[in-house]
This record gives sequence, structure tokens and C-alpha cells, in this order.
Amino acid sequence: MFLKKEIINILNDNAGNDELFNLADKIRRENVGDEVYLRGLIEFSNICKCKCKYCGICADNKNIERYRISPEDIILNAKNAIDAGYKTIVLQSGEDNYFTVDIMYKIISEIKKFDTALTLSIGERPREDYEAFKEAGADRYLIRIETTDKELYAKMHPGMSFENRIRCLRDLKDLGYEVGTGCLVGLPGQRIESLADDILFFKEIGADMVGIGPFIPHPDTGLAEVKAGDFTLALKVMALARILLKDINIPATTAMETLHPNGRIIALQCGANVIMPNVTMADYGKKYEIYPNKARIIGISEKIAGIGRVVSKDYGYRKKGL
Ligand code: SAH
Repeated sequence: MFLKKEIINILNDNAGNDELFNLADKIRRENVGDEVYLRGLIEFSNICKCKCKYCGICADNKNIERYRISPEDIILNAKNAIDAGYKTIVLQSGEDNYFTVDIMYKIISEIKKFDTALTLSIGERPREDYEAFKEAGADRYLIRIETTDKELYAKMHPGMSFENRIRCLRDLKDLGYEVGTGCLVGLPGQRIESLADDILFFKEIGADMVGIGPFIPHPDTGLAEVKAGDFTLALKVMALARILLKDINIPATTAMETLHPNGRIIALQCGANVIMPNVTMADYGKKYEIYPNKARIIGISEKIAGIGRVVSKDYGYRKKGL
């Protein structure tokens, strides 16, 4: 369909932006319809062993207060969100060794007793762990590749391996998860060409979900002085992902809203069909700060109705060929 060269040209040239966004919106409507899926996001631990250069909860940051929600409270938090109407719970955290495969198994199986789909976003694990989480009832897994530029990947992720990230994605696909990946837009040294590679990678790996977010500098990281990613460029990468992958689920990410006061609603009109409101129980939500000023959801259903869309009552699995 699109050649890498064409993608690069589209990303470099802003004259055709309206046309691009309209096409992405049309393809979204034809393939996944007008419903917007809300996923209740629970950020259950900001303790992390990784040292990702851009991330505010990285192990090197000594300025943040760390927290970990107990397994009992995570289950309660999920129940409250499900009672409030959420049909998908997303459990996200830093790479926190406390949450062993046994503890996660228990949390997952308890939450799956409620009427909900369950997504995990807890980083790199051995295949056996992913297998156990699936057996416990997990349905989906999010793990962004962040960037397909191997050199940049190595710079941004000291002590981690690009190959292992890919291994995780392949294992998750193989085990039958709906798999979400994605990238950051605006990392220092990232080239337009590598964004084109990222988009083609999403297709190649068979992503069921793709989350694109502009990079937002966090004051307590080594990238504090780097300027934020470009909102429009991030939107274009997202629109191209919709055009190429058609029937996948695409969140309007919180990072988009952080950079633009109406960012999420704009993203919903440029290819996105998912929003992930933060439902982390009070007292904890504030501390999971991967970047500053994370936007919160206010009156989201009204806003969704305001653009002629409707909040779905469905679990929101990938709709293959509507
Ligand atoms: N530990 C999990 C979850 C990471 S947080 C994992 O490894 O998958 C979820 C996403 O936040 C990351 O994948 C990254 O793309 C994004 N993120 C982290 N720091 C960010 C920043 N400064 N600006 C924008 N997005 C960021």
C-alpha cells in the first residue's frame, strides 16, 4: 500500500494535512464505526527498575515519591471502575519486581471474575509470565516499541535490548493476546525516516492497537531541557497508522491532551477511537507522573457526543472487518 518514501513525504509536507486527517477519519468510521471505547486506566505502581531517559518514573529519579497499590486495593479499584461502567480495565505500572507472576495471577483472576476485559501494561517479562497472565484471564497487552531506530533505542533505554522488546511483542501475539504497541514522537535525534519505519513496523508486527504520543520533557530526567514533540507530527503518525492498519484500536493519548488543550478530541477526529481515562484511586494517581501536568478527563461523554460520536457499552475488542 504505502511505500516508506511516500510516508516520509507525507510526514515532511504539511500542505496535505487536512486531506490526511479526513482520510484517516473516514477509514476510522468505515472500519470501526462511531463508537468510542473508554478504558479505565489503573496506574498501580510507579516503582520501576528501568532507566528510560525520557520517563519521569525511571529508576534514576530520586525526586518522586514512590507508591505501590496493594493487590487487594487494585482489585477494589478495578471493581469500582467496572461498577461505574468501564468494560475494560488497563493495569499499568513501572517494572516493579514486587508483582511476581503469582501475585499478578491472583490480581488478574480476581478482576476477571467481574464483567470486564483486562489489559496489562507492565513491561518486559519472560514468555512464561505472559503465558501465566493469559491463563489467569488477561486479554490484551500494551508494550510500545517506543522507536524502531535501534541506535536511538539503545541511547534512550540503557541496559535494555531492542531484540528483547521485539521478542515480547512476538510472544504476546503468539499467545493470543490482542497486542498494543506504539511510539514516541519527538525523541531527541529521532528522524522522520525512523517514524516511517515505526508505522511500517506496526503493520509488520500485526498490532491490534497502536498508541502514539508526543514526547513530553519531564523536569527530573536528563531530557528536561529537550523541547516537546510536535503535536501535529504525532497526529500525522497516528493518522497514517489508521490508514495503514484500518480496523485496529487507536487511543487518543493523554500526552496529546497534555500538549494541546483539546488534543484528545482532535485525535478522535483524526483516526483515534479509544480514550483511557485515569481511574487510579485518589491519593495514588497524582504520583504516577511519567510527564508533568497529565490532563484529566472532564465530562468526556459530553465531549464525545459533541463531535457526533457515542461512548460504547461494549468490551471493545478489535473489530475485524466491520
Ligand atoms: N512499564 C510499562 C509502561 C510504561 S508507561 C512499559 O514498559 O510498557 C507507558 C508509556 O508512557 C511508555 O510506553 C512511553 O511511551 C510513555 N512515556 C513515558 N515517558 C514519557 C514522556 N516523557 N513523554 C511522553 N510519553 C512518555
